[in-house]
Amino acid sequence: MTIYLDNNATTALAPEVREAMLPCLFGDYANPSSPHSAGMAARRLVSDARAQVAALIGAKPADVMFTGSATEATHAAILGALRSLEETDHTRDHILTTAVEHPATLALFDDLRNQGWRVSVLPVNADGLPSLVDLGALVSERTALVSMMWANNETGVLMPVAGASAIAHAHGALFHTDAVQAAGRVAVECGIADYLTLSAHKMHGPKGVGALYLRKGAPFRPLVHGHQERRRHGGTENVPGIVGFGAAASLAALWLDEAGLLGFLRDRLESGVLARWPGALVNGGGAARLPNTSNIRFADGQGRPADGEELLTRLDRAGIAVSMGAACSSGANGGGGNEPSHVLTAMGLSGAAAASSLRFSLSRYSTAAEIDAVLSELPALHARLVAA
Ligand code: PLP
Repeated sequence: MTIYLDNNATTALAPEVREAMLPCLFGDYANPSSPHSAGMAARRLVSDARAQVAALIGAKPADVMFTGSATEATHAAILGALRSLEETDHTRDHILTTAVEHPATLALFDDLRNQGWRVSVLPVNADGLPSLVDLGALVSERTALVSMMWANNETGVLMPVAGASAIAHAHGALFHTDAVQAAGRVAVECGIADYLTLSAHKMHGPKGVGALYLRKGAPFRPLVHGHQERRRHGGTENVPGIVGFGAAASLAALWLDEAGLLGFLRDRLESGVLARWPGALVNGGGAARLPNTSNIRFADGQGRPADGEELLTRLDRAGIAVSMGAACSSGANGGGGNEPSHVLTAMGLSGAAAASSLRFSLSRYSTAAEIDAVLSELPALHARLVAA
């Protein structure tokens, strides 16, 4: 049995979620736009799920729209906001994000730069935190939108989103946050944001379904046209996925109470690794973090950065699944080779130090026995690495 500690890449489908989805895969397959009773039943399922997802972030159901992924939700938010603003306000030509955002956001900002937007990318300190003073100096009456993730997917570092949103709003700019890794792991309140991105598969829901919280009245032009989702995002609804997302969001809200236990297990792993591996350090360890994530850089016998890829392979052979940075930048998806993590290099790590770092990400299914099994592998692994 694999010890799965890669839950920031994706999570296992919860049995409760699977049970909720199964009827929509077989019996209840009608199109929610159809006029007959079966269509109405499907419509009700979508609307119940919308209420469940909204409840997780303190939103009104009408302010939540479903998408095909978080990546799509972020694109819909940022492009939808900017295209709408372009029609009404020609004075704002500047947008801002941080150096440690998910690649989907950074690539979108690159594209927007090529389209003529002035783009600022806020640096982070050694703990992975951007400075609100720097942000305040960059945001002006010409800023259209600020996008800052709620929690970083590689280090778990919690970003100063409330402060960033206040600064953006004080200058009349819009605020988007990617709360994909935070939702279900820490309390997430949509109230600070104009746009907020979620993904089902990071909270024990299915892949291929995301959601966007859109504050009522926030500027928005649809990215995908069609009558669904109140004309804000076209395409026949992925009913099983949406139902699964709803069930996952309800479970996530319940499980928030158990975040302390998750943090306890993560700390047990982290302190255990540091005690067993001379020279190991926690990336982002000085910042407040998600309770499930630990990003650790490993040293070899001489105190130089260890070969993280080799460590990952050896852990994999021992049945332990961890990752180096984000799954999507690992090259495994045809992403084009193993680039050092842009998050860790933004925190000041050298390429070699970044490549010596592994991300351990737990879930509510992780157990103390699993953590102890991982820790028990380390002394032999260290001895082999030092001998090599
Ligand atoms: N944002 C963050 C912070 C993520 O970690 C991920 C997934 O890795 C995404 C966005 C993209 O989510 P999705 O796979 O639903 O597009």
